[in-house]
Amino acid sequence: MRLLIMGPPGAGKGTQAVAVAEHIGGAHISTGDIFRANVAGETELGKTAKQYMDAGKYVPDEITNAMVRDRLAEPDAAAFVLDGYPRTAEQVAVLDDILGSLDESLDVVLSLVVADREELIQRMLKRAETSGRADDTEEVIRHRQDVYEAETAVLLPIYRERGLLVEVDGVGTIEDVQKRIFEALDAVPQA
Ligand code: AMP
Repeated sequence: MRLLIMGPPGAGKGTQAVAVAEHIGGAHISTGDIFRANVAGETELGKTAKQYMDAGKYVPDEITNAMVRDRLAEPDAAAFVLDGYPRTAEQVAVLDDILGSLDESLDVVLSLVVADREELIQRMLKRAETSGRADDTEEVIRHRQDVYEAETAVLLPIYRERGLLVEVDGVGTIEDVQKRIFEALDAVPQA
């Protein structure tokens, strides 16, 4: 199975994506994690990405797209959960192209729904107490919500129109949300 997991910052995407990858027996591919690994390793990619990440901005598409293209071509990515990509309309088009060239397609786009912006911000502030992430300050957290609303929320209708979107209520305990996700995925017909 090949799927995207989408949702605003603080919706619990990363946590749920790990469990979903295990559930479907696929790779968990998080662009945020790959960027953070590059920042930690002080690679050229990491140095460039860090400036954007620390400000809560998106890393430019040409950098992100090339990274995802390479990652999806790796042998363990026959089944995957893509977490944090695509985030712009341009990335949607590039992902279509990447999958087309691999003769693959998406089975489902999972959207974690948490409508209350303040709840998201409070969750992220709580995470900030332990995450050590430079982009987990209140100002940056608020900016990341704005960027999500402006750039990424508009992708949901694109996938809805394609008949791929499955929305899951993201409010509740991690276990409750996970159960809802697994039930929703188990009901999805696979290509
Ligand atoms: P995340 O861990 O998914 O919240 O991502 C952390 C940060 O990495 C984001 O705020 C962006 O700066 C960067 N990032 C992750 N994925 C993307 C993407 N698809 N496009 C651009 N920037 C991204």
